Amino acid sequence: MPGKQEGRRPTLAIVGATGAVGTVMLDVVSTRDDVWGEIRLVASARSAGKRLRVRRQEVEVAELTPEVFDGVDLAMFDVPDQVSAQWAPVAADRGVVVIDKSGAFRMDDEVPLVVPEVNPGQAAIRPKGIIAVPNCTTLSLIVGVAALHRAFGLRELVLSSYQAASGAGQAGTINLTVPLATWLGLTGQPGQVAGYGHLDAAACRDLVAAIAAGPGARWHLIITGPDGTAIGYGRARKGNPPPDHPPPPGGTGRPGGPPPQGGTGRSGGPSPPGGTGQSGGTWPPGGPSPFGGTGLSGGTGPPGGPPPPGGTGESSGTGPPGGPAPSGLTGNAGQLRWLAGIKISWLETGTCGHARETFAYQPSAALRNLIKIRNATCTFPGCRRTARRCDDDHTVPYDQGGRTCECNLSPLCRRHHGAKQAPGWHLLQPTPGTLTWTLPSGRTYTTEPCQYTT
Ligand SMILES: [Zn+2]
Ligand SMILES: [Zn+2]
Repeated sequence: MPGKQEGRRPTLAIVGATGAVGTVMLDVVSTRDDVWGEIRLVASARSAGKRLRVRRQEVEVAELTPEVFDGVDLAMFDVPDQVSAQWAPVAADRGVVVIDKSGAFRMDDEVPLVVPEVNPGQAAIRPKGIIAVPNCTTLSLIVGVAALHRAFGLRELVLSSYQAASGAGQAGTINLTVPLATWLGLTGQPGQVAGYGHLDAAACRDLVAAIAAGPGARWHLIITGPDGTAIGYGRARKGNPPPDHPPPPGGTGRPGGPPPQGGTGRSGGPSPPGGTGQSGGTWPPGGPSPFGGTGLSGGTGPPGGPPPPGGTGESSGTGPPGGPAPSGLTGNAGQLRWLAGIKISWLETGTCGHARETFAYQPSAALRNLIKIRNATCTFPGCRRTARRCDDDHTVPYDQGGRTCECNLSPLCRRHHGAKQAPGWHLLQPTPGTLTWTLPSGRTYTTEPCQYTT
């Protein structure tokens, strides 16, 4: 170790040293020889034993264990939220000052959120021994905003940010939404891959077939009302892929059908993480009728963008959506049988009957699926984070008597989960899926259920 006999230099641990951010950290700390004593590199068991260069020396990566923090003064965590949530307190318990760059503690009242150029003094007040750092967008913005605030006193900020797709991590998923009639081979209506835009019908059917070959694919059915909002939802049982797609439509296309959607529509999508939909009758539905579009959504993840509108729009009554009676669908009998096996849960609209209410804090898996189909993104005004990556938030907090029910739950991301409790803020859910925010300035914003059609 270079250096003179000044006071002991602090020991630094870089947790997540082999990750994308951690690797950059190694370069940064290598630019100064005289700051740190030992630099310990830490990563998951999978990466332990690797050798990485820091300060022109090779250092072996140690496995993330409680003991690895012994003797460490400061640890920087460059890891996913759930890893930080688990391990930052472990390090802090051993006397380590943790600087966490994940989102795990950003909304925690007992963890200061520090930007050195704005509020360096806050770093000294850390009841949990943890210091959080804003995400990249906020970090670059806040320095300029802080200067404006000091000069003029800002009261409200309205921001839109456009996040890099890489922020979602490396576990890639394709969210393909295909109108049912397209999948059945009845129309040439395009489908949509969330985040990428439209895909013509033939490519959709090819992609569905390719996805069906993957064991991890999940299949969802979203039934939409005339206004394009979800009114019913079902998820196929695991390991039960749809039969092969039929031959392309020959002459059965519907002239004068609605034009393809413009724009890319809403991307991202809700996640039905576990369990199949709660029973609500089988398909074809005897439920709300007539219904509008129906989306078949496949992919390794949750349903993505909206199904194009009107794909099945001429259907009404109890026949299968998509037009002709089953007798006219010679090539699709297998698909119709498969569809008929998917149980549909109907979403509450208007006045909630509380049929799916859970008398506990945690909603049932079925209820979680439903609210993430109904509101496909975080219900904070303007937030585009997909519901899959959000909490199931009680609009009226559970401990204040709020129900665990469709009329009192909505997706809110970790960043916005606590916003409704901030001084001067109010949140109401006047009808299921509609969220009305009141800001301290008195201004109100309303978030509506996801539009699956444009
Ligand atoms: Zn209710
Ligand atoms: Zn949000």
